[in-house]
Amino acid sequence: MTIPPGSTIGILGGGQLGKMLAVAAAQLGYRCHVFAPEADPPAVAVSSEFTRGDYLDAEALRRFAASCDIVTYEFENIATGALGAIADSLRPSLRSLEIGQERGLEKEFIEKAGAKAGPWMRVDSEADAREAEERLGTPLVLKTRRYGYDGKGQAWALEPGSALNAWDQIRREPAVAEARVDFDCEFSVILARSADGSTVVWDLPLNEHDSGILRRSTVPAGQSVERHAAEAARVATAIAEALGHIGVLTVEFFATAGGPLVNEIAPRVHNSGHWTIEGAVTSQFEQHIRAICGLPLGLTSRTGPSTMENLLGEEVKAWPQLMAEPGAHVHLYGKGEPRPGRKMGHVTRVTL
Ligand code: AMP
Repeated sequence: MTIPPGSTIGILGGGQLGKMLAVAAAQLGYRCHVFAPEADPPAVAVSSEFTRGDYLDAEALRRFAASCDIVTYEFENIATGALGAIADSLRPSLRSLEIGQERGLEKEFIEKAGAKAGPWMRVDSEADAREAEERLGTPLVLKTRRYGYDGKGQAWALEPGSALNAWDQIRREPAVAEARVDFDCEFSVILARSADGSTVVWDLPLNEHDSGILRRSTVPAGQSVERHAAEAARVATAIAEALGHIGVLTVEFFATAGGPLVNEIAPRVHNSGHWTIEGAVTSQFEQHIRAICGLPLGLTSRTGPSTMENLLGEEVKAWPQLMAEPGAHVHLYGKGEPRPGRKMGHVTRVTL
């Protein structure tokens, strides 16, 4: 079914991803209606309507969905308890969201779809934490199964005997334990899939993290990533197909000597795809709108080598110098307080 230009796209979540989705939607002639619990989230600055509401308020969600022709989501950490009320309007589906937001379900799902993850197990008790250490060794990382992002909700057990301590650090929440993966580098596959099953993939960015937060994405990624490109794209496409995913899907990988290992999936546009705004013929944001609205997908070819750097916390204060740099594409999200590690904006440089 085609949702034609002039229609209204609902977006659950009002962060920078929603903002960039709304800009792309506006370019294609759509209006956006944002639903988020915050008072003045970034996406509202570029959307025609805003409902401030709680994701658990089924009645508010129903009214919101009734005012939209289709509803998408810009992040996966949304309580799903009431989303059943608007499941028919959601693209990607509620299933993509439910699997993408729970690390245990996610790992089981990707392994079933034929992808490889590193050694892992669920941790729900002290006995599990001890067993995780026995089975996976140290160092290992404990991650809350839900509501983690940018390295939040994670604690490392570096020394033997410290797994329980690490679980305490994440307040004994339901978790997964993962062995430390010995990787050469990290990269992601960003793809878009239409309702008819056609799938397109962008060039794979090399992703550099610091304290669990993405610092920089670079395309082309170089040999250490490119040698895994075909296998990683195959695996990511298999995951998208198994999900019946419609829209953009991101799969983050570790490049290891034994091949690509999936770290996690995001059923949405992704920070490591921001370079596509200026560095590719069609951006991930426009492509997501095209995919969910049943429009033909655009070309994903690169327009030139690109580097995207995040502006974290106080780094955003360098905006006057960045704006003065010819050719630098500066994106400021319009967030208030520049807390340490908070994603305040990004800058992309494309070599033409
Ligand atoms: P995540 O939030 O799971 O993507 O983790 C954030 C970052 O922490 C990753 O991008 C890696 O740099 C690092 N990391 C997470 N899990 C592991 C692991 N099992 N082994 C090694 N590094 C990891």
